[in-house]
Amino acid sequence: MKTATCAIVGAGLAGLSAAEAIRAEGFDGRVLLFGDEPELPYERPPLSKEFLRGEVESDRVPLRAPAFYAEHRIEVHMRTRVAHVDVQRRTLEAGKELYTYDKLLLATGASPRRLPVAGSDLPGVHYLRTLHDASVLRWALNSRPRVLAVGAGFIGCEIAASARAVGCNVVLLDQILPMERALGPEVGEIYARYHRDRGVTVKSGVVVTEFRGASRLEEALLSDGTTVACDLAVVGIGVTPNVSILPSELKTGDGVETDEFCRTEVDDVFAAGDVARSRRPRLGRSIRLEHFENAELQGTAAGRAMCGKLDPYDPIPFFWSYQYDLDLQYYGVAIEWERVVLRGRPDEGSFTAFYLDSERLEAACLVNRSRDASAIKRLIGQKSLAIELLGDDSVPLRNLELTGASVRQ
Ligand SMILES: Cc1cc2nc3c(=O)[nH]c(=O)nc-3n(C[C@H](O)[C@H](O)[C@H](O)COP(=O)(O)OP(=O)(O)OC[C@H]3O[C@@H](n4cnc5c(N)ncnc54)[C@H](O)[C@@H]3O)c2cc1C
Repeated sequence: MKTATCAIVGAGLAGLSAAEAIRAEGFDGRVLLFGDEPELPYERPPLSKEFLRGEVESDRVPLRAPAFYAEHRIEVHMRTRVAHVDVQRRTLEAGKELYTYDKLLLATGASPRRLPVAGSDLPGVHYLRTLHDASVLRWALNSRPRVLAVGAGFIGCEIAASARAVGCNVVLLDQILPMERALGPEVGEIYARYHRDRGVTVKSGVVVTEFRGASRLEEALLSDGTTVACDLAVVGIGVTPNVSILPSELKTGDGVETDEFCRTEVDDVFAAGDVARSRRPRLGRSIRLEHFENAELQGTAAGRAMCGKLDPYDPIPFFWSYQYDLDLQYYGVAIEWERVVLRGRPDEGSFTAFYLDSERLEAACLVNRSRDASAIKRLIGQKSLAIELLGDDSVPLRNLELTGASVRQ
């Protein structure tokens, strides 16, 4: 009798979590895990933080010990790119071999968006996604180069903070304020000030139009005609989901579409993690997230779904970011919002920003306020909050869990 096979393309956090869940569900067939990087699945968050600053070594980033894979009978194929998937025949091509599968998970993650300007192939221009990228960058920071962080999203801001922490001169630039796209101008302004106070030059309203240098990077030309002298640039302008190997029936403009059970439109093909654009009943729409916790939990949900355990995957989204001594935690999703209410002491690096749309709390960004996380998770999605009290730090958050009419002061 043929042995059933679950195949997973992408040996990142989502792929690993799925493999683990498949075994936890008691699946006794083959579990194949394909990854095109050399290392076994590892954590990416330290790559822009502790690892980049030289505070932890690469032996601290693996998600599981090597023995885990044999113990769980997970057949890992590292350094193996899946070149093609045929969902009609249920086969995939990897390392010149053809594999058949019964259930397939796409967990191919995402790759940094490239900056299409002249000079972007000069030595000294970096991107950061992999352990290899981070190792090269960390080594380059040893000579304390003048660093230009291009893009002030989470990765760019974390790189700027880490480069500054190891003693580099740093310029952080973007069209908008630090993390403004996700967190709005109010929080962007607070972070801009925080970076400036720690010696980073924050430039907003400009983009890089050219990298210049004779044999390696020497300066960047900006859209306002000025230049920034730099020895090293790190481009962090977002990521695009890795869909190039996928058949057209699975592609959308933004990742692989799934329902809330991680199922794609094609029978027995699932997707999870950064590549998946999934339906979220609590939001009433589909979204693609690029967060560690999402990759882990959705990978687990997908693994269970591959074994027939269909529970809707719909937690409150969560991510974090560390910059300097600012520990940021974000719950919910606010893509557009009507207003932001701030609570706490932004000047002292301890505050919460609440994102409201039609009086409904869509999301909250907590900075050095993890103690409020449980109360805030209960408030997310609620309407009829006493909004005027959200900003009042003297009113305990737990007292706002009731409707406006019955708020206790
Ligand atoms: C530097 C950095 C810092 C981060 N910090 C934070 C943080 O502080 N907080 C937070 O919440 N999130 C953070 N994230 C995001 C988080 O790490 C990602 O959301 C998570 O790693 C996504 O996991 P994934 O398994 O979906 O994808 P990935 O981790 O990208 O894994 C997918 C894997 O599949 C491989 N692959 C792709 N195509 C193929 C193919 N055809 N064949 C074989 N293999 C293939 C890829 O090379 C990759 O190894 C950070 C990310 C980075 C890069």
